[in-house]
Amino acid sequence: MKPPPPSHFDYHGVHAVAPHDRAFRVRWSVADGRSTLVRVREHTCMCTYPVYELCSGGGLSFIRQYPFEGLDEMRESPWMRAQVTRELWMRILTGQAW
Ligand SMILES: [Zn+2]
Repeated sequence: MKPPPPSHFDYHGVHAVAPHDRAFRVRWSVADGRSTLVRVREHTCMCTYPVYELCSGGGLSFIRQYPFEGLDEMRESPWMRAQVTRELWMRILTGQAW
């Protein structure tokens, strides 16, 4: 018997949990278009907005947020050390920050 074809859900990535009541609010700012080369290290699943991306560039890291469906509007967290940004990333994924 053949295995079933992969379902839609097999293609889903990580989903950020909905922020809980006392979640920390990130100070998002409109992306300022720094010329630094940015690499996207991780991202959340595109099926749910906001979509988040963990990015690095120029020796720092930050998180991008696409608040609405489509990628027209982009916001950025403060640029921080990789370790600090990674902690914020985990908080976002677990609903402790948004
Ligand atoms: Zn998904």
